[in-house]
Amino acid sequence: MVIRYRGVVLVRDGFDTHQLWPYECLCCWHVWEVRYTVRRLDDGHGNTVEVWLRNGVTVQPPWAGTCCPGCGAVQVTSFPPGYLSRHPELVSAAEPDPAPAPVEPLPPVTSARAPRPRRLLLGLGVPVLLLAGFELYLVVLAVAHVG
Ligand SMILES: [Zn+2]
Repeated sequence: MVIRYRGVVLVRDGFDTHQLWPYECLCCWHVWEVRYTVRRLDDGHGNTVEVWLRNGVTVQPPWAGTCCPGCGAVQVTSFPPGYLSRHPELVSAAEPDPAPAPVEPLPPVTSARAPRPRRLLLGLGVPVLLLAGFELYLVVLAVAHVG
């Protein structure tokens, strides 16, 4: 806070602290946290004034005027600061992607040709089976000659 007095600029001392307030909606049970900056200032009469900020903008204190970001209800409750860090199971799952990936249409089904995977399996499987059979034949032949 800046006060101009007879050409002299007085800057009142203050300090900021940060608080993380956990909330729960009493309508949809959504759980979330809001980070506040609490700026404590001297009012010039010996009293301390608290100013609550979110992202640098002055807002109402966390116990007044909070509404659910999920459903917009104002029936919310808060937990002690840091409560959710001790109870992570209460945090809601991540929001689903609002824009799902476009679905491509399926190709038309034709019965004239066999599906490609089956043809690929036959094309690779038959030579492998023939080679393995030939190798097995050679091993059996070698054992028969040795024994
Ligand atoms: Zn809600």
